[in-house]
Amino acid sequence: MSSGVFELVASGFKRSSEIPKDNDLYYRCADCNGVIPSVPTKNVGCECGNVFIDKDYWRLIVADLSKIEVVRKKTSQGL
Ligand SMILES: [Zn+2]
Repeated sequence: MSSGVFELVASGFKRSSEIPKDNDLYYRCADCNGVIPSVPTKNVGCECGNVFIDKDYWRLIVADLSKIEVVRKKTSQGL
């Protein structure tokens, strides 16, 4: 999976409660470049542990808010 298929939606959050989630939104960790779904089906986190989602409580835990980006999968419209 290439990270090039994602486009940036928002970044520079001050609180994790500001960070949007939706079925087509993903979180990218600027530290390890890991991308995880914002609405996961199970607990999920990035490789370095900066971003973690506790699915049971719908809680997003971010260690360093300056290193999380909200991205969306680019839809290819064909050429
Ligand atoms: Zn990470």
